[in-house]
Amino acid sequence: MSREDPTIGVLALQGDVREHLAALEAGGARAVTVRRRCELEAVDGLVLPGGESTTIDRLLRVFELREALRERIGEGLPVYGSCAGMILLADRVLDGAPGQQTLGGLDVTVRRNAFGRQVDSWEEDLPLEAVTGGGPPVLGVFIRAPWVEEAGAGVQVLARLGAGPAAGRIVAVRQGDLVATSFHPEITGDDRVHRYFVDVVRDRVARTAG
Ligand code: GLN
Repeated sequence: MSREDPTIGVLALQGDVREHLAALEAGGARAVTVRRRCELEAVDGLVLPGGESTTIDRLLRVFELREALRERIGEGLPVYGSCAGMILLADRVLDGAPGQQTLGGLDVTVRRNAFGRQVDSWEEDLPLEAVTGGGPPVLGVFIRAPWVEEAGAGVQVLARLGAGPAAGRIVAVRQGDLVATSFHPEITGDDRVHRYFVDVVRDRVARTAG
């Protein structure tokens, strides 16, 4: 860790917070938990972890974070959403729970629990060129995961499934400084996706400094 390391928060209302904190630290950030507005104000970037999007949606209101977070996303806060976090970042959700809302920001339609009951979880090596630079693939671990059913013109597709019944489905995207994956890189011990996001945050900090 050095003084230039960006401070990246992990929304810590529910989900696999600890794993993201560790992966962010490994990826070169100062990682902190975010549960309060003042904590949100202090971060250069934010991770929305996997967990249960309906629960996180509800807790965002209980903790009175929802509007502040929407505002910061609107101002360009870099955010990385994994799995439930991808759902929260999406502008549109299919198969959401009744009344479920998202934060939005990412011009995509996601399908919640898209892999279906038969395939609760799925694993696949993904080339993810933007992250790996052509190096070894990233293992995508999908757990009751969404996929991106439709992406707007401004959205860069980072990965699609290459095999299985869902081959071709989009599972990683970027739009501006918003990044989302259907899978959970934080549980594989491979910190390259987090490192990629830390770079997104670092670039944003450099662009807006001074
Ligand atoms: N199915 C969960 C949801 O709808 C996401 C699962 C996960 O984050 N591992 O939020």
